[in-house]
Amino acid sequence: MLEKTAIISGITGQDGAYLAKLLLEKDYKVIGLTRENSESKNQGLKYLGINDKIDLEICNLLNKNEIESIFHKYQPLEFYNLAAQSSVYQSFKHPIETFQYNTSSVFNLLETIKQISRKTRFYQASSSEMYGRVNSLPITENSILHPLSPYAISKAAAHFTCIHYRESYEMHVSCGVLFNHESYLRQNTFFIKKIIQESIKISKGLQDILLVGNIDVKRDFGYAPLYVKAMFLMLQKETPDDYLICSGHSITLRAIIFYIFEKLGIPQSFCVVSKDLYRPSEIEDMYGDNRKAKSELHWNYNFTIFEILDLLLEEELKNHK
Ligand code: NDP
Repeated sequence: MLEKTAIISGITGQDGAYLAKLLLEKDYKVIGLTRENSESKNQGLKYLGINDKIDLEICNLLNKNEIESIFHKYQPLEFYNLAAQSSVYQSFKHPIETFQYNTSSVFNLLETIKQISRKTRFYQASSSEMYGRVNSLPITENSILHPLSPYAISKAAAHFTCIHYRESYEMHVSCGVLFNHESYLRQNTFFIKKIIQESIKISKGLQDILLVGNIDVKRDFGYAPLYVKAMFLMLQKETPDDYLICSGHSITLRAIIFYIFEKLGIPQSFCVVSKDLYRPSEIEDMYGDNRKAKSELHWNYNFTIFEILDLLLEEELKNHK
């Protein structure tokens, strides 16, 4: 049973769906953990045509007994921990819940592996948001963490929890520090997905303007279906470690909007900035150095943000009703 069984928490999310598809292609038995087993939450898996190839289990990661039962039942070779309250915006509204879920779940999982499943290799979804206020760019694996949101604080705490278990108990625990990555399956509330959906509505006369917050910040964006490959590669390494997964370039949100607007023939004046949508604290610029992942994991990634935007716009237009 141990061979080739992988469990993915947060399988109903963007990365969970693409990672599940990748692991199925590699002949893994894939188990997905979810908080509820409702139909609508399988949309990503259905979209990729893999919903009937996955065993879904309801498991509350805040309940260690439930986690233990899952480990006893499946004895996974690999565990990919993608479940989290993943929105920075929501974390300012629900800081305590975000911190509790994103950190306690990781402790529960690692304690379970330590106690009953030492052979399981563990992947943690860490985030570039942990770096926050950066002193120098590009960010590397050695940059100092200075989180600027409750979400980032929770991810930093979970990240150090993983390092602690790896160093103290010789467990195979790796953290992928992923920078923003996008796909058609991205939640509607995240920037690029939202911009594309609303711009299409404007182009069809269904919406008047695009209302945005601070669009002069710069971010490093990548393509989710290719970023999940790095997660898999990390757990194939004999030695666990942490890796930055990023494109290596940043771009202003303004440039992204105007690129999409141009593609859809929308004048720039349709973009309206509202200070009410600014965040309490904001990272100005952020891009990473992906050389360690490329050289040690042999992770190939050469997409530009404009290639991604073209793909996303095409897919969104194809599916737009
Ligand atoms: P999503 O938001 O798309 O998916 C996260 C999943 O976590 C959800 O489908 C949900 O599944 C589950 N979940 C468990 N607890 C909660 C909770 N309290 N609130 C909301 N959802 C919860 O995230 P992504 O797939 O984009 O990201 C995967 C992981 O990678 C996350 O941990 C995220 O923080 C991290 N990350 C993502 C980046 C990105 O750019 N996408 C960048 C860096 C890190 P269910 O309801 O079925 O349990």
